[in-house]
Order: sequence, then C-alpha cells, then structure tokens
Amino acid sequence: MNLSDERLEHLAHKLRLPDVPTLAPCLAQEAATKEWSFLDFAEALLQAQSDLSDARACDTLERLAGFPARKTIDAFDFSFQPSINKKQIQELASCAFIERVENVMLLGPPGVGKTHLAISLGVEASKRRLSVKFTTASKLVASLAEARTAGTFSRRLMGFVRPSLLIVDEVGFLPLDASEASLLFEVVCRRYERGSIVLTSNKSYGEWGEVFSGDTVIATAILDRLLHHSTTIPIKGESYRLKDRKKAGIVTTPAG
Ligand code: ADP
Ligand code: MG
Repeated sequence: MNLSDERLEHLAHKLRLPDVPTLAPCLAQEAATKEWSFLDFAEALLQAQSDLSDARACDTLERLAGFPARKTIDAFDFSFQPSINKKQIQELASCAFIERVENVMLLGPPGVGKTHLAISLGVEASKRRLSVKFTTASKLVASLAEARTAGTFSRRLMGFVRPSLLIVDEVGFLPLDASEASLLFEVVCRRYERGSIVLTSNKSYGEWGEVFSGDTVIATAILDRLLHHSTTIPIKGESYRLKDRKKAGIVTTPAG
C-alpha cells in the first residue's frame, strides 16, 4: 500500500465511508475512460458508497427482524388472489402506515399469502431503515413467559415494543390461555399509538373469543386497541400451497 492509499484509508475510516478505498480506484479509471468532470467523479463515488451503506443497513435490519423466509411484494402473484387489492398493498408497501402508527390485519384461511405479505411489508420497512421484529403469537407469549421466569421480563418486552414494526404471525392458530392472553395484551397495550403491528390470523374477528379460550373481555380489549387505527385486509380464495398439487391432481387437506 503506498502513502496516498494509506491516507485515503485513514480518511475513509475516520469519515465512516468504508468502501471508498476500494471504490475510488475503479471509479477513477471509469472517470478517465468516460472523461467525467471532477464533480461527476465525486458524485459517483459518494453515490456508490451510499448505495453500499444502504444495502448493508437493509441486510442487517432484515437479519435482526428474524423473518422465517425472505418474501417480497414483487414475488407475490396478485392474479392468483383477486380478493386482494394490489393498489392497497402497494400503498402499504410505502410504509406510510408505520409513520402514521397504524396497524395492518391480514385475515384469511391457510395458504392465501398472509405470512408472505406480512414479511414483504417487513422487508419494505427494512429497506427504509426501519427496525422490524417478526414473531408468531405462540413464540411471543412463550418468549415472554420464559423471560418472566428468568427475571428478564422487562428487557424481553422491550424487544417487542421498541422496533418500529412488530409482525405477529398466526394469531388464532393455537388458543391462548388467560396468562398467555395477558402477555399479548401487554405487548398490544405498550405499542398502542406508539408502534405499528402487522398481524395475521386465520380467524375472523367474530371468532377471536375462541382464540382467547372463550375470554371475550380480553379478546375485545385487544381488538379494540388493534383496530383503533388500522387497515384490515380480508383474503378469500384458494391456498397457493395447494395450487400445484391441484394441478397434478393430488389434493390433500391443507396443513395450515
Ligand atoms: P398463509 O400465511 O396465508 O398460510 P403463506 O403466506 O405462508 O400463507 O403462503 C404459502 C406459500 O405460498 C408461501 O411459500 C408463499 O410465498 C406462497 N404464496 C402464497 N400466496 C402467493 C401468491 N399470491 N403469489 C406467490 N406466492 C404465494
Ligand atoms: Mg402463515
């Protein structure tokens, strides 16, 4: 490494522009070939660094979110699910609902794309440098119950309260008992008017009493807060999981 490389490395480190030492020689060569002005070169260098920093931040946020798989809006086949309003999903993908601290409720039977859309909204939020946490209702309550026993409840709770977006998948798959319901209630209350929730459920609102083992009081209290500022996306239609099996003539009961 020569002296000027070393100086560039030092300045890049100091200014937190980690890729400038690698980018600069390549872009300098391009600048020479294409006869860029000095200002064009400076802009191209800073733009390339900015793009790399954005991509890295987005990767980190996605990793921290804990998505079970990477799903995107682009990969969602809207023609397969005509009950979904594509424009409405695109509007949600702008993440303005997170700035407005609103919730999104994705409801429907198994396989219609609830988890796919929930993750896609999370990916869009990560792209905008917003923190996201993905969990399922059962994992959320199990995690908080465990933390309570271990004496680390407050810290664990903050893990569900702090992110700009909390995704709670699969509410209603397994009924929650009174103590589990109170843990979900705690999270919903702490986020109420402070942080958005994207929630998916295979149960309609009328069935939420069953989700909470018949306790309609807690079901109503939770729904009341969730729905106050929210968009509900009811999805009707066929399971995408069954699509190919149906085509092949081997249809089994959906697993959920
Ligand atoms: P749900 O959460 O409603 O049970 P998922 O979102 O898990 O359904 O969807 C099941 C599988 O089918 C996933 O792999 C998902 O990516 C895919 N999928 C569902 N709907 C669509 C769609 N309309 N276009 C593309 N893939 C889809
Ligand atoms: Mg799902």
